[in-house]
Amino acid sequence: MRNRPIPGSSGRVRAMRLLGDPVLHAPCEPVTDFGPSLARLLEDMYATMYAANGVGLAANQIGVGLRVFVYDCPDDEDVRHLGHVVNPRLVAADGVEVRGPEGCLSLPGIEAGTPRYDRAVVEGVTAEGAPVRVEGTGFFARCLQHECDHLEGGVYLDHVTGRRRRRALRAVRRTAWGSRWPSPVAPGPWLGRRRG
Ligand SMILES: [Zn+2]
Repeated sequence: MRNRPIPGSSGRVRAMRLLGDPVLHAPCEPVTDFGPSLARLLEDMYATMYAANGVGLAANQIGVGLRVFVYDCPDDEDVRHLGHVVNPRLVAADGVEVRGPEGCLSLPGIEAGTPRYDRAVVEGVTAEGAPVRVEGTGFFARCLQHECDHLEGGVYLDHVTGRRRRRALRAVRRTAWGSRWPSPVAPGPWLGRRRG
């Protein structure tokens, strides 16, 4: 028996925005309207994340430049974490830095070893405006940092350097969507950033 609907069951699967789309490379705006349109946005985000077999999704990945992300993500102990954060702030990212494989629904088919802190804490509010604090370790900490990056207009490749970066960018150029960009090797909006 359930007393709440499954997240995303009433949502619409939206088109995924891909690397190079301006909405992915600009900071998102804070949510100020907590009305039904926010609830609909969350439903669409869950539906789109599940349809794409993702573990997290930021609103700008479906073209909405608002500070919202959803997640359904295991940690390294296989504990499932499911939820959303509106107006999230990454208040802590610490512990050891672990380089692990990371991918993104906005860079389909690409994966790169990416350094992330082993623990992350995000604070924000729910769709109803109630304060929420989400703490994650391991792979879920990676997810929380990844989604917070999206809302700042970043992507995980911003954290990848050296030969791993060159290899990932070569792979981007080989994809149908990456080859559409005129000069993906030149510093683009997503290449001029550095960790920190
Ligand atoms: Zn992503």
